[in-house]
Amino acid sequence: MQQGTIKITKAATSKLSTTDFNNLPFGKLFTDHMLLAEYKDGAWGDPEIVPYAPISFDPSLATFHYGQSIFEGIKAFRMKDGSAAIFRPYENLKRFNKSAHRMAMPDVPEFHFIEGMKQLLKLEDKWIPTAEDHAMYIRPFMFATDEVIGVAPSSKYYFMIILSPVGPYFSRPLNIYVEEQYVRAAPGGVGYAKTAGNYAASLYPAKLAKEKGFDQILWMDAFEHKYVQECGAMNVFFVLDGKVITPSLEAGTILDGITRKSIVDMARSLGKVVEEREISIDELVAGYKKGTLTEAFGAGTAVTVSKISGLQYKDTHISLDASSMPVADQIKQAMAALRDGSAPDSFGWMVKTNA
Ligand SMILES: *Cc1c(COP(=O)(O)O)cnc(C)c1O
Repeated sequence: MQQGTIKITKAATSKLSTTDFNNLPFGKLFTDHMLLAEYKDGAWGDPEIVPYAPISFDPSLATFHYGQSIFEGIKAFRMKDGSAAIFRPYENLKRFNKSAHRMAMPDVPEFHFIEGMKQLLKLEDKWIPTAEDHAMYIRPFMFATDEVIGVAPSSKYYFMIILSPVGPYFSRPLNIYVEEQYVRAAPGGVGYAKTAGNYAASLYPAKLAKEKGFDQILWMDAFEHKYVQECGAMNVFFVLDGKVITPSLEAGTILDGITRKSIVDMARSLGKVVEEREISIDELVAGYKKGTLTEAFGAGTAVTVSKISGLQYKDTHISLDASSMPVADQIKQAMAALRDGSAPDSFGWMVKTNA
């Protein structure tokens, strides 16, 4: 690991005592400090931890115009023994640098990403929630900071980490619209990268779906609108004929979710048959009609495991009983037990903030 020092400048006052931990709206509250590092002249400077505050930029900032911007989403949990642990942050580092590569941005060093995150979490330890289904959401991001209007990779970047204590993302089972017109990602594109533009492009179709009464969109393949891909910020799983199935990643159009890969491993360790493969919407509709499609759920860091009770495809409404989804329940419980340390970390996924 590249070594360096992380200079810490502490905030003069803390917002901790005025924060209501019984009512944490997702992603709206941030802790007292943030981490920041600058890339210029071909190298990263040391990361610094400074008071959380607005930053100002020239109106010509490259990110504003051409969107060279990537991010990650990670959670840290309060363990039963009082310590805190981050869920698989090295996987997020790998994916962050994959996104960086696709967007012609520099790699971020492990020291900045992992050690930076640990130091920031140690400083903000009192902010890590203790309640069930609560966590510290960690948001590392990088953006271009050249001050020039011209389409080219920036020569300067900021890497930052901010922290937001959060409760559950969705409070009820989801009603999903199967999208047939708009497309999220095509082979050769940037679907596998966690880059800002993917989300900007999804907002309008998501708004139309909301107006029709749906919570989220299920994206389909770009060519035939026939094969299931994923939802807005979560991968999808189904239980069909007793098997756990999820779309495969080969086409590069699906975000390689860390929750997704963890659930695949965990379901196998619980004795389930798991298939990563092409899944057509016709197969799901047929399974529903035969009664062999028994569960559907989304999986992601922000949402954890979120049950899907409705899927609207053309005139067919697939309606599933969220109160009887034993596989989703079992996976959700096993993940929760791992995250608060009540089950042994047999996969080696938890990284202690003080280790
Ligand atoms: C972040 C994200 C996911 C979930 O990935 P995790 O690593 O499990 O958080 C799934 N799909 C999209 C589009 C995402 O942005």
